[in-house]
Amino acid sequence: MIQKGIFKRMDETNHEQIVYCNDSSSGLKAIIAIHNTVLGPALGGCRMYPYKSGNEALIDVLRLSRGMTYKASIANLNLGGGKAVIIGDPNSNKSEVLLRSFGNFVESLNGKYITAEDVGMSVHDMEYIRMETDHVTGIKRAMGGSGDPSILTALGVFVGMQAALKKRLNITSMRDLKVGIQGFGKVGYHLCSRLHKEGAIIYGYDIDQSKLDTVVNEFGVIPLSNKELISTELDIFSPCALGAIVNEKTIQELKCSVIAGAANNQLEKEARDAKLLLKKGIMYVPDYVINAGGLMNVANELKGYNKDKARYQVEGIYHILMRIFDYASTNNISTLEAANLLAERRINEFSQWHHH
Ligand code: NAD
Repeated sequence: MIQKGIFKRMDETNHEQIVYCNDSSSGLKAIIAIHNTVLGPALGGCRMYPYKSGNEALIDVLRLSRGMTYKASIANLNLGGGKAVIIGDPNSNKSEVLLRSFGNFVESLNGKYITAEDVGMSVHDMEYIRMETDHVTGIKRAMGGSGDPSILTALGVFVGMQAALKKRLNITSMRDLKVGIQGFGKVGYHLCSRLHKEGAIIYGYDIDQSKLDTVVNEFGVIPLSNKELISTELDIFSPCALGAIVNEKTIQELKCSVIAGAANNQLEKEARDAKLLLKKGIMYVPDYVINAGGLMNVANELKGYNKDKARYQVEGIYHILMRIFDYASTNNISTLEAANLLAERRINEFSQWHHH
């Protein structure tokens, strides 16, 4: 009965493999979901979270791993999609043996799944996992890894904004453009610095007052409340904090030409919200494309990290997005639908090619 349920779900989402990891001696309970390996090994972070049940963890890992397939494909990487979740509280249930036990399970897949950092995990944790397997990315620079991905993620968001401005408003300069940033964390801060250099007028909000104070002082950001930020007239609204910020309610209030930010899962209900934005004439830059700089950065570790190469690849997000925008306008579909279709097309072309 249970098995039937799982296979039905795997059919619905087209998953290749699910690995349940249970190690009573370390207390590890984890699920590794391999969604698709047509383009290459499945790369995706490992999330540690106190899921209430195995089923809740399964739902999350299925959703996240599928997302990675699309992200790697549209980013032109030779990687598939996968993700792992460890059930537990990262603050109290994490230990060296638990992490090494997880590393052991990753190793048992012989490189079909490559892990990385995600919510609830740190660069330091990756080093324990590395003790058991080489199939891990997101290692410190000092250890031969790619280090903090947020600078390149911010660069990707910046070139993504340039692509959207060119397509939507036919402009190439950011001077005096009004940009609203929500969240000045690692990515938001770097992005803000770059936009400031380009002469943009930056509005912003962060729930953490000290983060907001920093950018007000350093880059002359005009502070607003969250509500004001969403309803202010802007050229670009840039969500760099939370997911689901673009929804039925906020779409009514937004007065921007473009939405382009780093946050994951910006749309509350993807298909519905992408259509609402299309109807309203707001150009939505698909989140998983514009924030792929982080993934490109870690993917570079697999062949020996090279900063210039990673940078060059991230700058290519401009052209990837232009192709998506053109495909969307030609076919009169949302930019999100266009991105999904182009990502699927690359995978389908490869699977046919492999069969020959
Ligand atoms: P971060 O944790 O460094 O920054 C998040 C910021 O958002 C913090 O300053 C926090 O105070 C603020 N914030 C939290 N709740 C808020 C709210 N309700 N309103 C306004 N601000 C709020 O994270 P980050 O690394 O900068 O990533 C930002 C987003 O981009 C996340 O959604 C992340 O998943 C996504 N992302 C990051 C990377 C990367 O390389 N770091 C790559 C891809 C995607």
